[in-house]
Amino acid sequence: MNKKGLLLVLSGPSGCGKGTVLKELLATEENIFLSVSATTRSPRPGEENGTHYFFLSKEEFEGEIARDGMLEHACYCGNYYGTPKKPVFERCEKGQHVILEIEVQGAKQVINSQPEAVSIFIMPPSLAELERRLVDRQTEDEETVRRRLATAVEEMKQAKDYDYIVVNNTVAEAVKDIAAIIRAEQNRTCRM
Ligand code: 5GP
Repeated sequence: MNKKGLLLVLSGPSGCGKGTVLKELLATEENIFLSVSATTRSPRPGEENGTHYFFLSKEEFEGEIARDGMLEHACYCGNYYGTPKKPVFERCEKGQHVILEIEVQGAKQVINSQPEAVSIFIMPPSLAELERRLVDRQTEDEETVRRRLATAVEEMKQAKDYDYIVVNNTVAEAVKDIAAIIRAEQNRTCRM
């Protein structure tokens, strides 16, 4: 029997290092594809339509929701973000693993609507370490760091709803943990 690919959901607070972990995971593991989200926010320098995001107008995005084209969607910092449904299911049907890097509201929708999804929450080693990483980025002022930390505390309360929590002590360890989760999950007979 042809085995379906895994639908993986990855979340974690801003500053937990999930971007770096994900990049390393995609570079080292075969057969895992990152879902390209849609958003109504403007592209940042260097971001390309169809590669980093599908950049849609508010009307286009709402049209997709109305057509039931989104697997999940959420409003985050005043913009819509969502996962186009079709490419995700097409890849999983072909036996490819698909990873959604999404915030907690959208993750909750996927966890509730797709019982077979495997959800992973990336935790910073501690709040003090998270604060240090946010400050070290030097991209945000003190007030923004404070707000991000408060948001992180709220997001971390959702971690208990995920199948797995991976603590990002080091990128290498976190990638190893996620790879182990993927291998264990793909061997579960109930997902065949
Ligand atoms: P950014 O604007 O920095 O690229 O992303 C902001 C937040 O939106 C991040 O926490 C990211 O994980 C989340 N995000 C990106 N794509 C999606 C999506 O398709 N759905 C949801 N719910 N969140 C997303």
